[in-house]
Amino acid sequence: SKAEAKEKVYQIATDITFAPFEFQDVNGDFVGIDMDLMAAIAKDQGFKYEMKPLGFNAAVQALESKQVDAVIAGMSITDERQMKFDFSEPYFDSGIIMAVDSDNDKVSSYKDLKGQKVAVKTGTEGASFAESIKDKYGFSIVTFDDSANMYEEVRTGNSVAVFDDYPVLAYGIKQGNGLKIVTDKEAGASYGFAVSKGQNTELLEMFNTGLANLKASGEYQEILDKYLETGS
Ligand code: GLN
Repeated sequence: SKAEAKEKVYQIATDITFAPFEFQDVNGDFVGIDMDLMAAIAKDQGFKYEMKPLGFNAAVQALESKQVDAVIAGMSITDERQMKFDFSEPYFDSGIIMAVDSDNDKVSSYKDLKGQKVAVKTGTEGASFAESIKDKYGFSIVTFDDSANMYEEVRTGNSVAVFDDYPVLAYGIKQGNGLKIVTDKEAGASYGFAVSKGQNTELLEMFNTGLANLKASGEYQEILDKYLETGS
């Protein structure tokens, strides 16, 4: 019931290094669009929650095994995931893009990946996309659990390229992560807040109502601007 929903402390899992959606600030606190959206929605709807930064794949697995109530982690609303999870209304549009080291002038298309290694994050839409084209272009895949290690792999030259979400790679590049984008964006699903299928329907409804309220009040846009416009 609604009354019970307000007493409960929901356990919400997230990624660890996925700026500007979730990342640690200088004090080690988790900040970002997902963190601010969750806080604002919980305040608007009057529910309590605890954020668990587990890493992306671990967060999705924790939701699948019902160890947590929900995931907010720049999680794409894919057809495959919709069989296991119920998603909120989409709250951010995304897409997949390839990046290489900023000093690399040899790789500028998928064809240049032949015989090379490419870094991806386990269980992500970027990983699925890389899988779908790897035989055609003849590259091999190296998997990582978080974006920071994946980008480091490309900077050190162990892998020549990375596939990740466009808004995250674009933000990282703007912040000077040492990578560059050399190809066009591929289609990807929008981000949604996820609960297990048929579970926590109250929470999902509160998320959707809260999100609509934040959009109407302008707070949603303020949160986006805070991370996407200023200081970056
Ligand atoms: N949007 C991507 C996905 O859902 C990546 C999410 C992430 O790495 N946090 O697969």
